[in-house]
Amino acid sequence: MGARILDGAAIARDMRRELLPRVADLTTRLGRRPALGIVLAGDNPASEIYVRNKMKAGDEAGLRVELLRLPATAGADEALALVEHLNGRDDVDGILVQAPLPAPFGPAGTRAVFDAIDPAKDVDGFSPVNVGLLTQGRPTLAPCTPSGIIRLLERSGIEVAGANAVVVGRSEIVGKPMALLLLQRDATVTICHSRTRDLAAVCARADILVAAIGRPAFVTADLVKPGATVVDVGINRVAERALAAALFAGFPERLAEFDRRGSAVVGDVHPAVRAVAGAVTPVPGGVGPLTIAMLLANTLEAAERRAARG
Ligand code: NDP
Repeated sequence: MGARILDGAAIARDMRRELLPRVADLTTRLGRRPALGIVLAGDNPASEIYVRNKMKAGDEAGLRVELLRLPATAGADEALALVEHLNGRDDVDGILVQAPLPAPFGPAGTRAVFDAIDPAKDVDGFSPVNVGLLTQGRPTLAPCTPSGIIRLLERSGIEVAGANAVVVGRSEIVGKPMALLLLQRDATVTICHSRTRDLAAVCARADILVAAIGRPAFVTADLVKPGATVVDVGINRVAERALAAALFAGFPERLAEFDRRGSAVVGDVHPAVRAVAGAVTPVPGGVGPLTIAMLLANTLEAAERRAARG
């Protein structure tokens, strides 16, 4: 029997609908819409698409989304000035700096820009203050992708407490906060990375396996315990037909779509995992929509907290 497909897109729609009355209520109380400021530096085509989607979603949720652009030639000083400007604006509740910043920023410049965001407005949950609060299990703005995955598990009735959870990937934005959020919910958590020994054996013990690696179809069926829940965070564009044909062997409609478009977006989990797992998230339509829904939820949360502080 095939795995149950966890419909992240449908859950994200529900979450977004549930935000509407809260946004309307806060708009009345504030006399303005809750607002998100987005800083977009450079002209990375993928970032343009992500930002456009975030703006559209924000608008549909009743938020005001303000886009502040910086040219690709801008330096860290200009980005820092923009973040400080948004920090100081009373009519801006959330700030998002779209990653990646242009290459000349380098790791130090990038870190400085993200660190400058007021933790109370840090809707991505990247600031050291919010990461510290998350680590201590205190209320905070937590990173959107792992928070969205927790909502997905909760709303899908997947038992987390006591489960063996394995997170493959240890990035600051997905892997590490994912592990912390699962631990807070009483899972027994293992974090894997590129230096993990015998990854297959570790993964095969997982009741909940989260793949956040960035390699197409990396998690194959032999890494998955029968009946496990597999959450696929990866977003990878595949353009080689031979690879697409191998990945979509049992999915003729996906291969046909690849042929029409000349490329396809695939996750970190091989499609054949569906024959073994108990439940899987699809790509697209799984974790991606939840990430956007959580961005809206975090922006509203930040606005509500600021309003409560007065
Ligand atoms: P990073 O590149 O920051 O991290 C990847 C992680 O995978 C690293 O910890 C790395 O280990 C680990 N890894 C790489 N190769 C292996 C391997 N062979 N075996 C075990 N572990 C390995 O990626 P992100 O966390 O930012 O993103 C992961 C994926 O999720 C990407 O495809 C990204 O596009 C997608 N993504 C999707 C989102 C969504 O909304 N759906 C949001 C954010 C990301 P090491 O640390 O040792 O290098």
